[in-house]
Amino acid sequence: MIITCPKCSYVRQLQDTAAINQCPKCHIDYRVYAHFQKESEKEQKQPMSYQVINSKVNHSLSVDDVMTGMAYLFIAVSVIILLMAIF
Ligand SMILES: [Zn+2]
Repeated sequence: MIITCPKCSYVRQLQDTAAINQCPKCHIDYRVYAHFQKESEKEQKQPMSYQVINSKVNHSLSVDDVMTGMAYLFIAVSVIILLMAIF
């Protein structure tokens, strides 16, 4: 059975004398590390999906804002050009 460390990716060798659940290179417990990774994944998933929703809303809003801003800028520039052409 080949055991690869989830932290440092060290592949456990047959001659390694460290405990069966412990990485001979970085000395972490495979099970403890896997447990903490699962916990951190749980914690990260909630705010990440929330951020995605938030960024989508912000993105659509900012696009509208940019389009409105561009429209106003275009009108303003055309008015200035018209005024300059007249006077
Ligand atoms: Zn390791």
